[in-house]
Amino acid sequence: MSLLLLGRWSDAERDRWLQLLQAELPAERFLLAPPTDPAEAAEVEAAIVANPEPGSLIGLPNLRLIQSVWAGVDRLLQDPTLPPEVPLSRMVDPAMNEAMVHTALWAVLSLHRHFFALARQQREGLWQQPEQRRAAEVNVLVLGLGELGGRVARALAAQGYAVSAWSTRPTEQAGLRCLAGEAALQAALAEADVVINLLPLTPATQQFFSAARLAQMRRGAALVNLARGAHVDEAALLQALASGQLGHAVLDVFAQEPLDPGHAFWQHPQVTVLPHCAAQTDARSAAAVVLANLRALREGRPLAHQVSRQRGY
Ligand code: NAP
Repeated sequence: MSLLLLGRWSDAERDRWLQLLQAELPAERFLLAPPTDPAEAAEVEAAIVANPEPGSLIGLPNLRLIQSVWAGVDRLLQDPTLPPEVPLSRMVDPAMNEAMVHTALWAVLSLHRHFFALARQQREGLWQQPEQRRAAEVNVLVLGLGELGGRVARALAAQGYAVSAWSTRPTEQAGLRCLAGEAALQAALAEADVVINLLPLTPATQQFFSAARLAQMRRGAALVNLARGAHVDEAALLQALASGQLGHAVLDVFAQEPLDPGHAFWQHPQVTVLPHCAAQTDARSAAAVVLANLRALREGRPLAHQVSRQRGY
């Protein structure tokens, strides 16, 4: 049998993955392009993918696992030719989880302690001391209580912030105010000083931050989008910043990436732009996750981090 390694990545990235996987599986046969020969196609047991071109997983009759090396599978699921019966697992990488916690802590600390505004003041040569609030006086709402949202919410609570977290299924977690449902969301949005988006991108969450949703937020609050650009109506966000409805936006993800050089976000004084780097897969730890799932597949044990095609995450 063979393993197919496919993605929209640089040769260097692909070679890094190949090297890490081959080090642990020296006898394995790896294919680096979709096989054209039917006999070769029949040999493919698992595909290890980084958003491959749509259609590239067609015609693999013995494919038993699609393993994404990226956490978000929204783009992969948009491929109508993705074999529906083959289990799809996404990446849950400990190093990426840790990086996301760091980015969220930085964003909330920067907003809480006015560090973005202070950086602007320095550029303007302004000596002005801002009001100092306690962490417990800052309401943070985390949307999505999954692998990333859950870790972020717990890390913020550990720093003393008043943290609420919203997810589909009602749940309880020590130190967090866990919420579910539209009414609870609206009440929490009205109270939150900082809203962190860590929802998956699904048909239910596309354009989640519409003009109407932004209007439900507390006046002057900040939005931190670390999930997907398509969660936000960018024109509505600019409008909300212009009207004072929103005080600041920290954006790691955009409707179009890379962000257009002429986009209003770049020079906007109330927007902090990150180039989709909040949390990257670290191939060193992520390769171990892939290898563990391959072992589970071959030993007939349950696969980790399976995506529900129905829910879209
Ligand atoms: P996850 O483990 O699948 O968790 C998703 C969470 O969102 C779950 O708590 C789920 O609720 C909740 N949810 C889903 N749909 C919902 C809805 N319609 N209403 C309310 N709650 C909903 O996802 P994750 O691994 O934490 O990833 C979160 C996001 O981060 C994804 O968008 C991913 O693409 C993005 N990401 C970004 C970067 C970056 O560098 N910027 C890096 C990695 C990942 P239940 O618990 O009830 O199912």
